[in-house]
Amino acid sequence: MITRPAEDPRIGKVEPTLRPILRRLHEIMSSTDDGQSRLDKIVRQISGLMVAEVCSIYLRRQDGSLELFATEGLNPGAVHTTFMKRGEGLVGRCAELKRPVNEPDAQNHPAFSYRPETGEEIYHSFLGVPILRRGETLGVLTVQNKTPREYSDEDVEGLQTTAMVLAEHLGSGAVAGSGTGSTIGIGTNIDTVIRGQPISEGIALGTMFLHEPRIAVTELLAKDPVIETARLETALAELKAALDELIEQGDLAKEGEHRDVLEAYRMFANDRGWQRRLTEAVASGLTAEAAVEQVQNKTRARMLRGAEPFWRERVRDLDDLSDRLLRVLDGQKKGASARIELPADAILVARTMGASDLLDYDRSKLKGLIIEDGSGQSHVAIVARALGIPAVGQAPGIVERIERGASIIVDADTGDIYLRPTPEVVAAYADKVRFRARRQHKYRSLRERAAITLDGENVQLHINAGLQVDLAHLEEAGADGIGLFRTELQFMIASSFPRLERQTQVYRAAIAEARGKPIVFRTLDIGGDKVLPYLRHVPEENPALGWRGIRMSLDRKALLRTQVRALIRAAGSEPLRIMVPMISNTIEIQLVREIIDREFEIIRRRDAVVPSRFYFGIMIEVPALLFQLDEVMRLVDFVSVGTNDLMQYFYAADRGNPRVADRFDPLSAPFLRALASIADAAKRHNVDTTICGEIGGRPLEAIALISLGFRSLSMAPASIGPVKTMILSLDAARSRSHVLGLLNKGLPVIRDQLRQFAEYEGVEI
Ligand code: PEP
Ligand code: MG
Repeated sequence: MITRPAEDPRIGKVEPTLRPILRRLHEIMSSTDDGQSRLDKIVRQISGLMVAEVCSIYLRRQDGSLELFATEGLNPGAVHTTFMKRGEGLVGRCAELKRPVNEPDAQNHPAFSYRPETGEEIYHSFLGVPILRRGETLGVLTVQNKTPREYSDEDVEGLQTTAMVLAEHLGSGAVAGSGTGSTIGIGTNIDTVIRGQPISEGIALGTMFLHEPRIAVTELLAKDPVIETARLETALAELKAALDELIEQGDLAKEGEHRDVLEAYRMFANDRGWQRRLTEAVASGLTAEAAVEQVQNKTRARMLRGAEPFWRERVRDLDDLSDRLLRVLDGQKKGASARIELPADAILVARTMGASDLLDYDRSKLKGLIIEDGSGQSHVAIVARALGIPAVGQAPGIVERIERGASIIVDADTGDIYLRPTPEVVAAYADKVRFRARRQHKYRSLRERAAITLDGENVQLHINAGLQVDLAHLEEAGADGIGLFRTELQFMIASSFPRLERQTQVYRAAIAEARGKPIVFRTLDIGGDKVLPYLRHVPEENPALGWRGIRMSLDRKALLRTQVRALIRAAGSEPLRIMVPMISNTIEIQLVREIIDREFEIIRRRDAVVPSRFYFGIMIEVPALLFQLDEVMRLVDFVSVGTNDLMQYFYAADRGNPRVADRFDPLSAPFLRALASIADAAKRHNVDTTICGEIGGRPLEAIALISLGFRSLSMAPASIGPVKTMILSLDAARSRSHVLGLLNKGLPVIRDQLRQFAEYEGVEI
């Protein structure tokens, strides 16, 4: 704490307080340490000399956000991982206002932004001063103490002078390269490629446009609460009307889960609790803007306590909605119809983005999307796919590494992002786009053609799907059906458990869209890491080995029954295929079968229509099944090999852990022998078999699978074209004898040999 105990020699005079700090600061700055070490030393020194329990330096990044660069007292793990959006929290406020923020009770301040990762909840008093150089904010220097108190004028002045000295050093490049990309001394003119994860396929070339959702709230206290309440009410009404308009527009008016996402969002906007909290905050004397921010912060803190992916997505919805309300209040934008002006060929770059935010942009100019934290299941990804916008997620740090107007390439087929590409890369990509168009054209021309090998073997090619937006690919790719419909995805994007009616509707829409092509519906594969917050969840040490898939369904039979009933109703008189995940033994198979049979019986007793044929299948994902294949095959109509999970359990290698996920090769002899035993058993029992893990969509792996006897593969829609092309140039008998020969030779892995075979035989891989 800056206000010193009585024995402190610095009492009463600023000069002696400052002198040792400034001297130490100069010593540290002129040392040969690297930038980060210097900042670390500075915060240590200031906290010691100013008797503050916490001292931190936040530096401004190109997008205006602030990054925690160094701290003494807060959790060290928060350094370079804590970011405050422009204007967010007391730190953001200090940077925006360019003046000190002195708060004796920081956490109850409406602008306080709760950041659990910093561990700062125990510190009450807060003093922040901007680090200013020639009027520009470079960052913020803060001190914090546990006891609530206001810092004295001398404290403020002392910290300001320190910040001024720091600013000179920062401005002169003294900490160049100290972090991940502040505005300070970070070189930017380099040709860079960042690898993210594709979340909506396609390729786009264009110029960077930064998505800036946030309006800084600077006026906190209302002059007249009555006027303020009226402003809030008008803004809320405007927000709701604009959302209605937004959701009903163009492509989005069509059915699909993007609508579920947006409807849930609309429900959020109409939530009485949210509106009540806002009104109460205004009644307590805040401006409407400050009320939005306060309610947002408090709700976020409450929601993030669970830290499940579901809640993170809901927090994003809330942030999105609050930002939108702030914009309405700010008068910058009157509702959603006022679109944000984009340059032609814009590639939108966002740290995080809500689904509705994306809709504010002019589609005709929006060519691509990059979201630092976006995942394939995020709401914005679902909407991007529905709109056909190429998008890449999981690209940390991109916002700081590129400036508005710079050129950028998004390859949402591979996940690669090229920043400021050289003319050669642009030319190569222009070629790639042309090549892609030609290839797509070729794949389209193969659409109606069956996948038959040179020696006449017919291979069924199916797609994996999970959301209604995926169904459009069935036709586009010319697939034979849906080999795996992951029903849990629908449950994961819903805000509450989908009831019988809703489920029936979703399955019925999928069946209608498939236009007679078969769909294999997999029953809920939740549990483990796929948590549904509306179901009670007990944390597990090893979720992948835990209470997931059928294990959970058998313990929560009502869920399974409802789903089966919905599927039977949705199928009407059409054939129905149901498949069960994570089966480990025949007892589980029998138990599920009994549940399904009972549901059929109930519907029949009511004289309702039942499917003309019913096919019952299981997934082979657990290695224990490999040793009871004959018994299993007797109980089912078909099996589908989930090689993603089978590989993970076979090699004891977590599929989600990048350190081990690719450590073992599916084209290794033991794994291929395991697959061969499944194909052989299925043949003996005349049971249909499909491979529905990722490997089925890779042409080289598909050669091995066909060689082992598999005649049905289910894959991502984009893989159908390449795999079909491969099949049309393959002689299955020759490859079978080659693959079996390689396995007999005792080679540990046959990848290279198989590739040589393909090249020699002219198989297109
Ligand atoms: C698999 O495990 O291979 C599979 C297809 O299922 P999922 O990826 O959904 O676990
Ligand atoms: Mg699986």
